[in-house]
Amino acid sequence: MIKTNKLFTYPALIIFISFQLSACAAESNGLQLEVYTGQYSGIGENSFTLLGENEAIQIDSPWLLGDGEILAERLKSNGRELTHILLTHGHPDHYMGLAPLVEAFPDVQVLARQPVIDEISTQFQSKWVHWEPLYGSQLPIQPVIPELLIGNNIFLEDYEIQFMDLIPAETMDAMVFYIPSLEALITGDLIFAQMHPYFADLNNPASWIGALESVQAFSPINLVYPGHGPNGGPEVLDEAINYMQVYQDVAQPGVPLREFAPIMAARFPDYSPTFLWWTRGPGFGIAGPGPLGVPEAITDTLPPHLMQGEPPP
Ligand SMILES: [Zn+2]
Repeated sequence: MIKTNKLFTYPALIIFISFQLSACAAESNGLQLEVYTGQYSGIGENSFTLLGENEAIQIDSPWLLGDGEILAERLKSNGRELTHILLTHGHPDHYMGLAPLVEAFPDVQVLARQPVIDEISTQFQSKWVHWEPLYGSQLPIQPVIPELLIGNNIFLEDYEIQFMDLIPAETMDAMVFYIPSLEALITGDLIFAQMHPYFADLNNPASWIGALESVQAFSPINLVYPGHGPNGGPEVLDEAINYMQVYQDVAQPGVPLREFAPIMAARFPDYSPTFLWWTRGPGFGIAGPGPLGVPEAITDTLPPHLMQGEPPP
């Protein structure tokens, strides 16, 4: 067993837990799609399980080991053999919780595109240093390094899962998955639903819009499963495109965060604002959030150690 600290909880997680409750499973002709939403990271990352009659395929893992353990138990209890884990991209919140899954299913193949393998291999250590003050022993000491994913589809029993590589959007290298029998698109972090997205890698809304439009090559799309936030119908994709168009207009190059963030918050008042400010990293540095213009209403909802550089309770 992988040892983890007692799981920690924050009052601020209530909004994210509500996503988990709203994330429903899809089913068609015996193929089921289940969502697991991370409960302890504070950012509600989604990972996905496709369940056939005897086998299962997992897309992404949770971020933290505690969530990975819960998911591994769920996968064990559903009685299928987990054959593959496919990664949408190389950000820590979608692969650092892999170890409990691999431990529960030692024969599972973890697969990703070559740039994602390279990203995990070369950036794991710096990401660990970056996030360790916030998550402590909930992070793995070593990454699970994926093997190479080739081709443009894979089969779970008789069910096809198609892939598409994206042009740069939330990060340089990412892919989406489409399940024709469910008419479902698993977008990874191409879409943050009902929350402001994470822009720290590229901050390129024009390319992001292009990536969102490109996935419409899959047809029909009746179910959309984002990397963060609740799943829904095709309107989830339309809303993501609309958000990016507004962002492109408001957050012009050279406009500082403290100026455009309140405008974006006002344009999308129902969206979770965490990423809008958290884009700068796990804390706000020695100066604290005030000089960046982070409103008190935001800092009040974040775990205290986020502001103070302390480890999680
Ligand atoms: Zn993510």
